[in-house]
Amino acid sequence: MNRRQFSRAFLGALGASALSPRILSAISALRLPLLPGKGGAMADSGASSHRNALPTRAHSRPLDLPRINAPRLHGWLKDLSRFGERPDGGVDRLAFSDAEIQARAFVRSLMEEADLEVRVDEAGNILALRPGRESLPPLMLGSHIDSVPAGGNFDGPLGTLGAIEVARTLADEGVETRHPLEVVVFTNEEGGKTGSRIMAGEFRPEELELVAAAGCTIREGILRLGGNPEALHRARREPGSTAGFLELHVEQGGVLEAEGIPIGVVEGIVGIRRWNATVHGEANHAGTTPMGQRKDALLAAAELVQAVDRAATSLPGGQVATVGRIQALPGAPNVIPGEVRLSVEIRDLSMEGIQEVFRLVRREADAIESAHGTPILLEEFYESAAAPTDERFRSWVEEAAQGLGLAHRRMPSGAGHDAQAVAQFAPVGMIFIPSVGGISHHPDEYSRPEDVEAGVDVLLRTLLLADERLS
Ligand SMILES: [Zn+2]
Repeated sequence: MNRRQFSRAFLGALGASALSPRILSAISALRLPLLPGKGGAMADSGASSHRNALPTRAHSRPLDLPRINAPRLHGWLKDLSRFGERPDGGVDRLAFSDAEIQARAFVRSLMEEADLEVRVDEAGNILALRPGRESLPPLMLGSHIDSVPAGGNFDGPLGTLGAIEVARTLADEGVETRHPLEVVVFTNEEGGKTGSRIMAGEFRPEELELVAAAGCTIREGILRLGGNPEALHRARREPGSTAGFLELHVEQGGVLEAEGIPIGVVEGIVGIRRWNATVHGEANHAGTTPMGQRKDALLAAAELVQAVDRAATSLPGGQVATVGRIQALPGAPNVIPGEVRLSVEIRDLSMEGIQEVFRLVRREADAIESAHGTPILLEEFYESAAAPTDERFRSWVEEAAQGLGLAHRRMPSGAGHDAQAVAQFAPVGMIFIPSVGGISHHPDEYSRPEDVEAGVDVLLRTLLLADERLS
């Protein structure tokens, strides 16, 4: 809906539909207030600080803005999907590949059309700035456009093009924000969140020599993108340098679709801990060793697998625990397994929650160990810290969704995102929209157009709430 349609609909709702189109367009040309008045139907709880916010039936001020331009956004998504497109409808747009470099040029052109000032930082991140009217640190929004091999067209592009659409809508509507706005395209998200981790100061120099999926080293890749691997410290952001970060993303799971809810309010990116478990039994002849005299490591391991599942489900909360790998040795049909190696992974929004599940696993492992006479060793080999989102951002996402009449629910993100690294130096918020069938990192990854539009509308409104309320 454009400003004129909006005014017409609004005045129509007020019974003012008899106004001529000329008057309507004159009203539309007025930036603010459209219908000033105290005590009138439109006088709200407070005056808008947004010059051209339009009064509506909603209560909150920034929520009064018109919607994003949906056909334009869908056109961009389609255009971007051509870079690295596959015959099966998916995309091969690995970070640092020719396809990604061409796609970045396309995205830059969209940024320039939206009146943004574009640059590439030392990490190869694309940063596009829109000035604010106050001297404040920027509010950042964006995502990534690289894909996994045989990936889909929504993981990354949604948050990136959605952010540009937000900036473009603000430009079209002549809205000035208090904070400068910074639209970002992060470098190599799928291959290790290179760009956002460089910003957060988490990137280790030796990672520059790692070979990326596209075949070049990360160092060569950053050079290809126009970055400077010798001066990565200059891309680093200190706490306070960025007012906040908002990322819109597809859920990559099936919760929202199953519940028929269009907006997920992300509570954070879960922390992960992984252990190698080794069950020590006694290998022996499978024919001559009576059942009562065995120390079957696989039998004990089978109980451990169940214990891991029980540990996660016996506690309240959204924690998950998985045994994803198992190997029995020596691995012959006629030998009682003497040793079993398995992995144990636990994820939760809080690291204490993970520890609690692990305590239960260890306690059950002790019991299994004594019942079977099979010592169980649990050695941790991986840890990734949880990154909770900022409570203010969560409530603003909810307020924005409510203003649009969209159902929403709070939920964790089980997958990693750039927001996880950004959370080290700025408050972050994340918005999810449904993934059809819960499918992602696959050519069939798909989100319905109406959900895409709702997500970007919520992004726009959340950004304006943050702009108004963050100091
Ligand atoms: Zn992603």
